[in-house]
Amino acid sequence: AVASSEPVLLANVGRPDSHTRAAYEAAGGYRTWRGVLARQSPAEVQELVRASGLRGRGGAGFPTGQKWSFLAQDRPGPIYFCLNADESEPGTFCNRVLMELDPHQVLEGLLLSCYATQAATAYFYLRYEYPLAYRRVEAAIAECYAAGYLGRNILGSSYSLDVFLHRGAGAYICGEETGLIESLEGKRAWPRVKPPFPAVEGLFRQPTVVNNVETVACVKHICERGSAWFRSLGVPPDPANPRDSGSFGPKLYCLSGHVARPGCYEAPLGIPLDELIERWGGGVWQGRRAKAAIPGGISTGLLRHDEFHCRLDFADPLKFGCLGLGTAGVVVLDEHVSMVDFLHNSCRFFAHESCGQCTPCREGTAWALRILDRIRAGRGRWQDLELLLEIGDTLGIIPGTTICGLADGAAWPIKNAIRKFRDEFEAYIRASNPDGYLETHPVRALDDRHLQVRS
Ligand code: SF4
Repeated sequence: AVASSEPVLLANVGRPDSHTRAAYEAAGGYRTWRGVLARQSPAEVQELVRASGLRGRGGAGFPTGQKWSFLAQDRPGPIYFCLNADESEPGTFCNRVLMELDPHQVLEGLLLSCYATQAATAYFYLRYEYPLAYRRVEAAIAECYAAGYLGRNILGSSYSLDVFLHRGAGAYICGEETGLIESLEGKRAWPRVKPPFPAVEGLFRQPTVVNNVETVACVKHICERGSAWFRSLGVPPDPANPRDSGSFGPKLYCLSGHVARPGCYEAPLGIPLDELIERWGGGVWQGRRAKAAIPGGISTGLLRHDEFHCRLDFADPLKFGCLGLGTAGVVVLDEHVSMVDFLHNSCRFFAHESCGQCTPCREGTAWALRILDRIRAGRGRWQDLELLLEIGDTLGIIPGTTICGLADGAAWPIKNAIRKFRDEFEAYIRASNPDGYLETHPVRALDDRHLQVRS
């Protein structure tokens, strides 16, 4: 059952000057940081976070305490902490809200996380397209140094920490943790083959943690309120599913698309999608009906309207044939949306963002786009749908063919759109290519306009 709760992550949002240290401290900010530094060891903070069951909010949902425990302790040299603020998943903007309106909450969570992992240097990797967040985080870091919360021998302790704000250049793949590390090292953001995982060999070949903005914000509240409080929110593990470790804590849900009140809303993990849309989003806009929704960023796939009772936690979307909760970036599509156009847009995005290292991803995303181009140009064939499904079923790290998860993310919209809305694709092909949709001989995948030779 999902417990109700007052806002925690968004508690300061809406207060005057909520982005400043003065406003943050007036609301009790940095008390936890001072208390932890004076009274708790890093191992105690790590244990607290492990016991809370916190799972990463960036998309994969990996248990944060477990990730920290993988850090190689036997390596000489520093431990690095990378804060992943490269929020690029379409439909996702919860980190932006936190960084623009409450950057000190993020920083306090970052300081506590660095202390727990004994990192002496942190890199705040910020998406380029967030100029206001850049200015506010930059100012917040300066305020932290001025207050003595950062720097050498923080607040008289033996712990020292520096935070560097790094602006990305605007590529989706920089949100993948090893792509982010490569980018920080000044190279093209090509994800690395794993193992070694970053906890063993990451930034500058040193043990490294990469955590998401909302994840470290949760760490702040776990340190303040305890792990039992955190576990009192959300959904416990399903005893019938040994791989489900539960979905605990508060979550920011981004709601956009065809709803009356799009926005960023906070609720405990596990809120049903229909409740989010109706109660928080004011229902589908313009009195229309919903056709589908993306549950957690475009790479998680699609839910049909009759699947809107799906709970938005780490386990339930899987039961509906989706990739998972992802970033909890919900996009509602109303009854007027063409699923052919939706899938075409999705394929354009992933073909553009594929870094090109892995053949299945580079070729699969590009060919899926060309097939969709052809269907939309009125030359679609019956077999194109099977061809698209074959591409969707065979690319990705889950089939084991690629280095990173971008290919999986590209595959789920294809698989879900065609399997859940096949009638619409068939009707489109039949109507737009009435004489040729049953042809079986090979046809050119490219539309003529793509074949023109530039002189
Ligand atoms: Fe690059 Fe795609 Fe391979 Fe990821 S899966 S490393 S984005 S080619």
